[in-house]
Amino acid sequence: MVRGALWLVQVVGEGNTFTKEQLRDAFPGISQADRRIRDLRDYGWVLFTNSDDARLVAEDQRFVRAGVPVWDPAARRAAAPQKTISNKEKQAVLARDDYMCTVCGVSGGEAYLDDSNQSAVLSVTRRETVLPDGREQTLLVTECKRCRAGSDGSPARADEAMADIRALDPGEQKRLRRWIERGRRGSTPLERAWNAYRRLPADARDEVRAALES
Ligand SMILES: [Zn+2]
Repeated sequence: MVRGALWLVQVVGEGNTFTKEQLRDAFPGISQADRRIRDLRDYGWVLFTNSDDARLVAEDQRFVRAGVPVWDPAARRAAAPQKTISNKEKQAVLARDDYMCTVCGVSGGEAYLDDSNQSAVLSVTRRETVLPDGREQTLLVTECKRCRAGSDGSPARADEAMADIRALDPGEQKRLRRWIERGRRGSTPLERAWNAYRRLPADARDEVRAALES
């Protein structure tokens, strides 16, 4: 589709006509080149056949106007025609995500901690995702309306998460793997020590501090 778009812009030119034969010659060995060209209509490209413009003969099409610059991946993604998500798919994603927003953790119908007048409405949305090996995929996630509204559309970055994990020392990596297996985070010796300290009466905390300084 991208090559077809560039061919239209650079070779055919807006306002000019082209034939199926020219298209075949431009993309030898590529089956369904005409279908890829038709797909451009989903991106706002205007192409007329003789059913749109009676002056054209059956073999001809007119490249009326270019649309979204599909050769720019960001522009293409932003304009991609969205297939609707079926109810079956939605239910499967909601169940997989435990009926919780994957961004803020609120459950469906639950009031927000910081705004008890508002209860969460969950929906299943598409999220651009960069996988650990750099591949990009659009994946379905459960999000609440509020998180969805606040999202800047930037992709989820599994590659960056992976880099952060690899930067941990081996002990931390091992602990993280245990959390991942359990599906929840455990407390670390550091946090346990901090909590034990915090629970002390003020005078005892002062003595701990003094003892550490000496
Ligand atoms: Zn949320």
